[in-house]
Amino acid sequence: MPARVLDGIAIRNEIYAELTGEISALASAGVRPGLAAVLVGENPASKVYVRNKIAACEKLGLTSIQITPPATITNFELLATIEDLNRRDDVDGILVQLPLPPQVDAKKILEAVDPAKDVDGFHPLNVGHLVAGRPTLVPCTPAGVMELLRRSSIPLEGAQAVVVGRSDIVGKPMALLLMHANATVTICHSKTRDLSATVRRADIVVAAMGRAAMITPPYVHPGATVIDVGINRITDISHAEKLFANFPERLAAFRAKGTALVGDVHPDVANIAGALTPVPGGVGPLTIAMLMSNTVKAARLRRGLRAPAAAAVQR
Ligand code: NAP
Repeated sequence: MPARVLDGIAIRNEIYAELTGEISALASAGVRPGLAAVLVGENPASKVYVRNKIAACEKLGLTSIQITPPATITNFELLATIEDLNRRDDVDGILVQLPLPPQVDAKKILEAVDPAKDVDGFHPLNVGHLVAGRPTLVPCTPAGVMELLRRSSIPLEGAQAVVVGRSDIVGKPMALLLMHANATVTICHSKTRDLSATVRRADIVVAAMGRAAMITPPYVHPGATVIDVGINRITDISHAEKLFANFPERLAAFRAKGTALVGDVHPDVANIAGALTPVPGGVGPLTIAMLMSNTVKAARLRRGLRAPAAAAVQR
C-alpha cells in the first residue's frame, strides 16, 4: 500500500490561519511584527529563498525589510549592519541568508544578532536554551518537522527515531527536539557504520544529508514514517529515468522541464513507508511557516506579551 502523504502545504496553511489570528491580536495592541532579511551578494538560490520569505511576510501582513549589501562587504561593515538592525525597534526578527562570502566570518555575524531577534535560532544562547529544553527561538526546519509530525498524529513518545545528518541547522536541533518529545534518538552521519541497518530500526526516519535519493527501500522498515528534508536539483536524464522508473508522471514532468527536485529519500520508498513527506511540498513550506511563527513570537516576547490561548503552534 502506498505511504500516507504528509502534506506540508496543508499544514503550512493551518499554521498561517493560526498566525493570522495572532497577528490581528497584535495589530489591535498596535504591534506589526517586522522581519529584516540580509542578503549578501548575488547567489541565485539565496535570492529565491529570500524572495519566498518576503512573499510570506506580505501574505501574512508582516513588515519586511531587505538589506542587500554587495558580495565585497567586509566583516566590519556587515557587523555594523547587524548592530543597526539590533537597535531598530521596528525589526523583531533578523535573518542572515547563508552562505556568506569567504571574507566574512559567518559565526561572528550570527553571534552578533540580538538573541531576542534571532528568528533562525542559530545564536549560541538560543542553541543552549534548546539543549536545556527551555522555551526559545528554535531553528525553522526542525521546528517545522515537529509541527508536521505532531499535526499528523505520528506517535513520538518511546518511538525509535533516526536522524541522518548532524548539521547545526537541521540534524542536531532535530535530534534534540525529538529527544525532548521522548523519542529514543540515534544520530547518523557520514562516518556511521552500517547506516542501512541503523536506519531500518527506525519508526521515524529524518533524512537530512543533501544526497539525492540516498535512502532507498532497503533502508526503511515497512510502515515507518519518513521525513525527507533534502532538496536536490537533478538535471541528468539518465538519473531521472532511474529515479522515476515507477513514476511516469514525474518522468514526463522532468522531460518537459529538463530538471526536477528530489529529496534525500528515493521515490520508491513511498511503496514501503507508512507515511512520507513529498519533495517538493513536504518540509520546505514548513520551514518558511516557522520563520513567520518565530517572527511573531519574537515580536510578542520582546514586548512581554503572552501567546493567545488558541495559538496551537508549539511555541
Ligand atoms: P549539511 O550541512 O551539508 O550536512 C549534511 C549532513 O549529512 C552532515 O552531517 C553529513 O555528515 C551527513 N552526510 C552526508 N553524506 C552522508 C552519507 N553518505 N551518509 C550519512 N550521512 C551523510 O546539510 P544541511 O544544511 O543539514 O542540509 C541537508 C539537506 O537538507 C540538504 O539537501 C538541504 O538542501 C536540505 N535542507 C532543506 C531545508 C528545507 O527547508 N526543506 C532546509 C535546510 C536544508 P558529516 O557531518 O559526517 O559530514
